[in-house]
Amino acid sequence: MIIILKSGATDEQVDHVVEKVESLGLNAHLSRGTHRTIIGVIGDESQFQPEQFQVLPGVSEVIRVLPAYKLASLDAHPEPSVVPVRKVKVGGGHLAMIAGPCAIENAERLDTIAKAVKAAGANILRGGAFKPRTSPYAYQGMGEEGLKILREVGDKYDMPVVTEVMDPRRVELVDKYTDMIQIGARNMQNFTLLTEVGQTKKPVLLKRGMSATVVDLLMSAEYILSQGNPHVVLCERGIKSFDTSTRNLFDVAAVPACKALSHLPIIVDPSHATGRPDLIPPCAMAGVAAGADGVHIEVHNCPEEAMSDGPQALLPDQYTKIAGQLRQLAELMGKSFG
Ligand code: PEP
Ligand code: MN
Repeated sequence: MIIILKSGATDEQVDHVVEKVESLGLNAHLSRGTHRTIIGVIGDESQFQPEQFQVLPGVSEVIRVLPAYKLASLDAHPEPSVVPVRKVKVGGGHLAMIAGPCAIENAERLDTIAKAVKAAGANILRGGAFKPRTSPYAYQGMGEEGLKILREVGDKYDMPVVTEVMDPRRVELVDKYTDMIQIGARNMQNFTLLTEVGQTKKPVLLKRGMSATVVDLLMSAEYILSQGNPHVVLCERGIKSFDTSTRNLFDVAAVPACKALSHLPIIVDPSHATGRPDLIPPCAMAGVAAGADGVHIEVHNCPEEAMSDGPQALLPDQYTKIAGQLRQLAELMGKSFG
């Protein structure tokens, strides 16, 4: 940590800051310039809050040298992490192709969609059993019945499955049926939920909150990692913007921005990011070109009957086409599938 004093800071104020640093068992290294004094602080910073120095008289600014997302940072782990989702690897040169309907509606429909996306090259099946809907009157999902269907269909097509959990009290239940636990955008900062999934050993798909910064996302990942679960995959799924031409604003720069700070894999979700089937293929390609470790796309064989997110679903044929193009792009970029 570095403490920068105000230009007019008095000797008493400087001494007071040094005393405070030393009283915490830390070392203070003073550097007196013509106009400013800077104090470098060395030692274990975990026992206090840097903001405590900010309020001392004469202090202008306190700067952390190490990021607060210690475990998620590249300092902690300079090589890219590879997250295993059963036999599918995510990150480190392996491309995840997550596909399936927004919500699980019945066994037959999920079977039809799973068969199609598997044939197209998807390697992880998605489907929501607990849906985070803006309206309490909208379809809320099948609950445990849906989880059972997801498990059965995933096993039938030999695909690991991912599904969302919204409630810390349901983590154990969801953990029982799924191979990867999704934390949705709306719950990215539900710290109780993050702590709970951090205590499982399951890989976590952590979606970026719609108003969250890249650092907020990494801090949320830190909650999971700090509980002893190292298997976190980040997901860029669009952020709020003033522009109503897309459902959200697809922040493709978040992909390399995360990679510059963290070893965790990051995938893109052009379905929720754009909300528009015509924009999903180009944004999926952009995500992979920007270095994404996977693509998450919602697919439905009959969008007009979908209980959730029908307007943004790709038809199986459309998914087959983009999956082929993504495969070519991934190969060009030296990535493999699975
Ligand atoms: C979803 O994956 O269906 C979903 C609700 O995603 P998000 O949390 O990104 O809105
Ligand atoms: Mn959805």
